[in-house]
Amino acid sequence: MDLSDNVGILPSIGPVYQKRLQKLGIETIENLLLYVPHRYLDFRQTTKIKSVQIGNTVTVKGKVVFIKNQYTRTGRKFQIASVRDESGEIAVVWFNQPFLIQSIFPDDDVSLSGKVDWFGREKAFISPEYEKRIEGKKSVHTGRLIPIYSETSGLSSKWLRSKINLAYSYCKNNINEYLPRQLKNNLSLFDLEKAIKLVHFPNSPLEAQQARERLAFDELLMFQLNNVSQRISWQRNIPTNQFKFASKDINKFTDSLPFILTGSQNTAKNEILNDLKGPCPMNRLLEGDVGSGKTVVSACAAFISFINGYQSIFMAPTQILAQQHFNTLNILLQPFKVRISLITSDIKKQDMGRCDIFVGTHSLINSKISYDNVGLVVIDEQHKFGVKQRDFLIKNSARKHEVPHVLTMTATPIPRTVALTFYGDLSLSTLNELPKGRQSITTWIVPPNKRDGAYQWINNEIKNLKAQVYIVCPLIEESSVETMKSVRAVTEQYTEIVDTFPDLKVGLLHGKQKSKDKEKMLDNFRKGKINILVSTPVVEVGLDVPQATIMVIEGADRFGLAQLHQLRGRVGRGNKKSYCLLFSQSNSEKVVSRLNALQKHSSGFELAEMDLKLRGPGEVFGLKQHGIPNLKIASWQDIDLIKKAKSVAEQAFGNPKEFKLLIDKYHEMI
Ligand code: ADP
Ligand code: MG
Repeated sequence: MDLSDNVGILPSIGPVYQKRLQKLGIETIENLLLYVPHRYLDFRQTTKIKSVQIGNTVTVKGKVVFIKNQYTRTGRKFQIASVRDESGEIAVVWFNQPFLIQSIFPDDDVSLSGKVDWFGREKAFISPEYEKRIEGKKSVHTGRLIPIYSETSGLSSKWLRSKINLAYSYCKNNINEYLPRQLKNNLSLFDLEKAIKLVHFPNSPLEAQQARERLAFDELLMFQLNNVSQRISWQRNIPTNQFKFASKDINKFTDSLPFILTGSQNTAKNEILNDLKGPCPMNRLLEGDVGSGKTVVSACAAFISFINGYQSIFMAPTQILAQQHFNTLNILLQPFKVRISLITSDIKKQDMGRCDIFVGTHSLINSKISYDNVGLVVIDEQHKFGVKQRDFLIKNSARKHEVPHVLTMTATPIPRTVALTFYGDLSLSTLNELPKGRQSITTWIVPPNKRDGAYQWINNEIKNLKAQVYIVCPLIEESSVETMKSVRAVTEQYTEIVDTFPDLKVGLLHGKQKSKDKEKMLDNFRKGKINILVSTPVVEVGLDVPQATIMVIEGADRFGLAQLHQLRGRVGRGNKKSYCLLFSQSNSEKVVSRLNALQKHSSGFELAEMDLKLRGPGEVFGLKQHGIPNLKIASWQDIDLIKKAKSVAEQAFGNPKEFKLLIDKYHEMI
């Protein structure tokens, strides 16, 4: 039996079980062996029946005296048995397992592990783990540390344990080590075969932990190998052009701005400029909290491309944002007579004329423009685009082996350990401060009985302070696209708001409107002609209307933490005091803690780190949207192991002979 064989090769795993295993991501024997437990039950303490105490969790070994099905007064079935050793006899009870009487018989030698409690007036094992004792065979389910797995319906820990035990015993001689011995010694890592065995069947908690560490290391190592390999292949590219510029050119740009760059904007700008004059094309991720001012940093890069006689492309996730970038770039670069074109899906080639910056959505990819002279590609909110779209843009604007410089931007604060693991192939710049003069946003959780009061307050803010307000409604369906149902719901809400505020101007914005209507609506909102804008989460990403100061989120319980933070980031973008009102009807503990977290923390980075600690990996702060997979074994907390894996990956590609087996394994995995 080979590790790469399908699990179906194991006895009694037919199509039904294969399907269930697939749900856990298990298809091969290797997947099964690497399905590690999330905890262990400690059944190591074995005692004589006579000394068993109420409340103990113990193991006893004895002979079955009798076993039978019985009914409770309410008609439920339970199984009662008695087990005896030389010191005494004890009752055993299971619930709803009528098949037991067909697998355990009087006189069987059994081992029982579990908790002892009162059953009526009798001392009894309640639903213990059990197995028959077989001479010379080590127990699997009792009398030791017992692995407990994340279960899916129809696959119990007991079942998984048996199958893993079986798979291991068939395959142990085929588990091939791929790490060099010296390295394992230096890092005190277990052998692979030993790690697999002991992560499931450890003799002590310490052994379990060491076994897990080896497997976690391997998991992280594969990501890091991928990063290094991507980076090496990117570095083989030559840039379309090594840009030239003097610091007085940069000053010309920064001096023309209506504000002074923040410290971290300056640092990011310098990191980018360094890349732009280097011998290898830039491949950088600019990560900044909402409202930290990424656009102006990217505009500076576009400016350098322009003065070198090259074109730039800006790709935004939605038409609204493309339009906004178009406006912003026009304002920022207007003093330098930069020609900017907004590419929409119906643009014709002859409309284009000569142009310095193309701004658009993914329509850029399908458009007929020839990107003959593109030196820089800027991708905003990168997670909205697939890798293929990104590659297309880069390759299509490349000539021979030349590629343009690439700057990717994201407003999702990615915790450091996550960025190290998944974006290790990119250089990273971080904007971790907001421009001067911003006031912190006050966040309130508003229960249903305070809704009217909140409306009254909003009304006053609008009348007295000319506040502008967003009201965002959740999507009705689970999917992230707007359906007609969601559009109907937001339209109803709009009507209600119009009725509630009869003497105010209320606007409606959703994804199903025509581009022109959307832009008109936003334009009116920008110009202050609309007091309240009711919308679906189309405003979630990137929208910048600095004078809007109140964000109301309807059904706040329906949004994830990342999304709530993004929405809140639509206000607090100017100098005026801003507020975020979370309307929620839910009392569920999860929801309450999420909304409280939002109320307490204003920094996206803090929220992301906290999310990482509070919840298991997987649900972390918007990572799913980024296409970042869950870690199965390793933990995001483990910065040390992440760094070690990174350094080993670098060594490996630097010394492919010594690391041949590892590199082969990596190629087999991708
Ligand atoms: P994001 O990082 O969310 O994309 P934007 O680039 O849209 O943020 O910038 C948010 C707002 O902050 C814009 O109105 C922009 O003009 C303004 N801004 C950017 N940098 C500064 C700065 N250094 N000082 C003051 N305002 C700034
Ligand atoms: Mg932005």
